Parts: sequence; structure tokens; C-alpha cells
Amino acid sequence: MKNLILLFLFTSTLFCQTKEQSPNIILMIGDGMGLTQISAGMYANKNQTVLEEFEHIGLSKTHSADQLVTDSAASGTAMATGVKTFNGVIGIDAQNINKPSILELCKEQGYAAALLATSSIVHATPASFYAKVRSRKMYEQIAVQLSEHDVDLFVGGGEKYFVMREDNRNLINEMDTYEFVNSEYEFKNSTSDKIGFLTYEEEPPSLLSGRKPALDELTQLSLKKLSAKEKPFFMMIEGSQIDWGGHANELNYVISEFTEFDHTIQKVLEFAKADGNTLVIVTADHETGGLTLDAGNLKKGKVKGNFGTGGHSAVMVPVFSFGPKSELFSGIYDNTAIFDKMLKAVME
Ligand code: MG
Ligand code: ZN
Repeated sequence: MKNLILLFLFTSTLFCQTKEQSPNIILMIGDGMGLTQISAGMYANKNQTVLEEFEHIGLSKTHSADQLVTDSAASGTAMATGVKTFNGVIGIDAQNINKPSILELCKEQGYAAALLATSSIVHATPASFYAKVRSRKMYEQIAVQLSEHDVDLFVGGGEKYFVMREDNRNLINEMDTYEFVNSEYEFKNSTSDKIGFLTYEEEPPSLLSGRKPALDELTQLSLKKLSAKEKPFFMMIEGSQIDWGGHANELNYVISEFTEFDHTIQKVLEFAKADGNTLVIVTADHETGGLTLDAGNLKKGKVKGNFGTGGHSAVMVPVFSFGPKSELFSGIYDNTAIFDKMLKAVME
């Protein structure tokens, strides 16, 4: 009996030690943020970006299962679950099999999880981390899947998909383990274990049209809440609208959205440096707009760009990494490898 107790103490100590060593993972996705979008934002902001402080840099191949040019659903699924799938599909592979996401695998390991986006929370990129649907446009179904999930904290638009539904369900009422907050003030002061903050009824507006609260502020508040949980966490933060600026072929839109994202990366990096056990990955799902920069003035922070398409392009996108296991992200690899590398960081 005494031996059994000793064995139990020994194994539980071992178990606790491994748990303590599991790093926080913060995956930051600039939707449509290729190298030219980063360059444009950098030149416009006194030739600086916080990305210069990252330790390792790689390149990611973004094509989907059958298309050279991916969409955000297929590339979000690739990074979230490690498989290439068809454009428009979320969380299901090309053989029609539901795949667990890195967020879900982290939760199984005792992690907390958070999703922040400047689009709606049911949009393709955040949905890739919790939903399994044949079409990214099944917003109401995606909202149901979030309501049945155990993401601890989420922030994004799209409230109408929860409360103004064709089936007349009110998912906010159904999600009774969550506190839903309606302002940054309420979010800041909430002490609930699970928090939902649906920032807009529809898709949030662009920053130039007055979107609030700022992503960097939401991120800082979320980091505070997550680190108070005393367990490791997985967090995905999306700068969603860099992509929308690209689709609109509006460079000012791209630069303003990138700038907010850059400020957010700065806050995350400050947290990671102080914490010492946080892996930060910053990348894109694809480039949007086929942007080239062909003129400008560095001193005036002016950049002139030309867009080659109103859609996405197939060019590789950069991957910046910082913290424990960040060296895994050097090199050239498929976007699916981002999942593999994150999982390795969690499991080893
Ligand atoms: Mg997106
Ligand atoms: Zn797009």
C-alpha cells in the first residue's frame, strides 16, 4: 500500500511538471497579409514593424487540396487541423473526415483557449478552430457549433447568427455557462470563467470606419484573463480585415488594418518576453490583391501600390516565430506544417 501511494505521488509529480512546461501558444493570423502588405505597413510606419524582433522566419505554401489559390476556409483548416482541404470547407479533410483542431487538442491537454477576430466570430478563419462544416457560409450552423464548444473566451462580430436565427433559437440564452458582455468596460471587469464578447451584430466595420474596441486592447485584456487561469493557453488572434482591404484594392485600408495588427503583435510579444514560456507565431492564410509596391517616399511614409487581382494570390506567405520551439518554424513548408509544429511544441 505504501508503495502504491509513493508511486502515485511520484507519477503525479511527474505529470504536474510536464504540465507546467507546456508553453502557451499564440497564433496570430493576418488574413491576406503577404510580404507586400507587411512591407507597405512597415514603410508607412517610419520603416518599422515589430516583426523585426522575431527570432525565426519561414515561408508557408498556401495552396489548397485542389486549387493553386486558396481561400480562408481551406487555409484556416490547414493551419488549424494539419490537412489540406477544398476551398470553402472548414474542419473537414479532402476525404470528408472531420479533423480535430490544434485548439481542441490543446484543450484535451488541459489548456484554456481563446479566439479573437476583427471579423465575425463565425467567419472562416476563427471557425476553422472549432467548426466542421461543408461550407463556410453556413454561419448559423457554425454558431451552433461554437455554442456547443468549450472555447473559454471569444471576441468578434456576428451576434445576429446567435440571436436572430431562422430556427428561432437564442444561442446566447442557451450558452448558460458563459457570461456575454456588451462593452470593453464589461469585458474588462468580467470575472467569469467563460466569456463571450460579440462586438457587432453584423461583420465589424473597418478601422477607418470606426471599429472599436481596438484589437490590441482586447488582446491585452484577454492575455490578463488567460494568464490568471494558471494553466497553459492556446489563443488565435486574427487581423481579419487586411484581407478585405486587399479585396477592395484599397491600400489605405490594408495599411490601417495592418497597423492595428502590428500594435497587437507588439502587445503579444511584450507578454511573451515577460512570460518566458509562450510561443508566438505570426503568419497569413494567403496574400490578397496581388499587391506590388512600385513607388513611394520613405521620409514621408508614403507608399504607392498596384493590385493585380481583386481576389487572393498563390504566393508563399511569411511565418514569424518567437519563444520556445520557435526554431521549428524556420524553412519552407506547407501551411499544414504549422499545425504539426504547434502540436510538437505542445506535446514535447
Ligand atoms: Mg479571415
Ligand atoms: Zn479573402
